[in-house]
Amino acid sequence: MDILKTKSQMREWSKNKKTESKTICFVPTMGYLHQGHVSLLEKGKPLCDELVISIFVNPTQFGPNEDLDDYPSNIEKDLDLAQKAGVTAVFLPDKKNIYPENFQTEVKLQYLPGFLCGKSRPIHFAGVATIVTKLFNIVMPDIAVFGQKDYQQLQIIRQLVKDLDFNIKILEGNIIREKNGLAMSSRNAYLSKIQRKSALCLSKSLDLARKLIAGGEKNPVTIKKKIETFIEAFPETIIEYVSLCNPENLEDIDRIEDKILVALAVKIGRTRLIDNALINPAQ
Ligand code: AMP
Repeated sequence: MDILKTKSQMREWSKNKKTESKTICFVPTMGYLHQGHVSLLEKGKPLCDELVISIFVNPTQFGPNEDLDDYPSNIEKDLDLAQKAGVTAVFLPDKKNIYPENFQTEVKLQYLPGFLCGKSRPIHFAGVATIVTKLFNIVMPDIAVFGQKDYQQLQIIRQLVKDLDFNIKILEGNIIREKNGLAMSSRNAYLSKIQRKSALCLSKSLDLARKLIAGGEKNPVTIKKKIETFIEAFPETIIEYVSLCNPENLEDIDRIEDKILVALAVKIGRTRLIDNALINPAQ
């Protein structure tokens, strides 16, 4: 497994692989890897000759009062997991290499960032779109894998690839959960024992939505209210949003007829967690 610490090293590596006609699959991450990240690597592994992971905590996607300085890190463990998952190259740049002095370009989508997480994190998706554009240009992959866990991000990347004509196939990986239903996240490391119990309110809310929809409930407002009441009963929870929306354009829906996205963001103490599910009333 090669470890590339600068963008010129990474680009050179990819160029060499391409001259050897090797295909490249890419999984961008912010590190502190867990089974969710590993599942994306496992999905990509059989599809290409080379498997690249990037580990970079991207400062431009964090707001001023967010957890950039506290974001968990364990590079040694990450490298071990990456190696076991069959990664052939790790891109591990530092911030100065990615954002040199006088950096001034931003990639910003007009529409999709206006919903869900974008409402409370106004600069987040411009940061994501900018870093992913840069990483795509540096790594030059044929395929890139993103998790459905960050559903809005996935939709934004798909749109970005279409709008900017990247010749990269975007694949999505299912949400990997702990046995109790909690979606795996690097940020789960912030949770106390009690908060971990409260954090179950997210996946349980999705179960509640599934149950209500299976029972014939068509009114999204009714479901939203029931979920909100449900979450409020858990200690230390502050709801940021509960949304029942169109999975393509993320707009709120008036009535549940087709497949919908139920998406949530809840603060457990100071830790902001997200989760989502696609629910089809016909099934
Ligand atoms: P992050 O390191 O949090 O930026 O995530 C890197 C990639 O892993 C993103 O595409 C995420 O959607 C994905 N990811 C994070 N958590 C999970 C999970 N529990 N299951 C599957 N993919 C995940």
